[in-house]
Amino acid sequence: AAFEDFKFNKQVLNAIADAGYTEPTPVQQKAIPPILNGQDVMGIAQTGTGKTAAYVLPMIMKLKYAQGEHARALIISPTRELAMQIEENVKIYSKYTDLRTVVVYGGLGPKTQIEQINKGVDIIVATPGRFMDIYLAGHIHTKPLQVLVLDEADKMMDMGFMPQINRILEVVPRKRQNLLFSATMSEKIHELAGNFLEFPTVIEV
Ligand code: AMP
Repeated sequence: AAFEDFKFNKQVLNAIADAGYTEPTPVQQKAIPPILNGQDVMGIAQTGTGKTAAYVLPMIMKLKYAQGEHARALIISPTRELAMQIEENVKIYSKYTDLRTVVVYGGLGPKTQIEQINKGVDIIVATPGRFMDIYLAGHIHTKPLQVLVLDEADKMMDMGFMPQINRILEVVPRKRQNLLFSATMSEKIHELAGNFLEFPTVIEV
């Protein structure tokens, strides 16, 4: 399949062309159709395979490339470095849309991050602890959330973020699209998938 075979609009296709991507990577070939369909997806894929675009491009379509009142998509990353990398990619893929992305992570004061969220945001990229801190401080309305992504889920478990993930799952709407990406498959990931995903399409690359 080519990018043109997916039901992407012009804004998305032009951003992909600007990025220099000529064809979808294997994880994109497999994950984009079910994600565009609104299904939950579990993707077993390493970083470097193009997994970020696999979930961000359909997310842009789902959000209708337009601004909303509060964040409608949340991407959880285990590390600040990955969160920053994801944010950079989201900005590249959404450059021809009105969508606003904010990245939040620990290790520095939350003031600027909160200000950015309060200005209006459509997609939040966050590390688990900092997301909960800002949520508990009352700056994130979770009701409008439509998509929740757990990226590098295996690393999140290894780093001991499971309690924070469970707290996040308690404060997001029940009806939402869930996407879980992990470099490896393990008993723990299987268990997380069981709690987190509903009738998932499982893809492996
Ligand atoms: P990721 O696995 O999402 O971290 O992506 C790894 C790298 O692959 C990033 O630098 C992307 O810019 C790049 N990439 C993603 N999709 C494609 C594609 N379809 N063709 C070429 N490069 C891509």
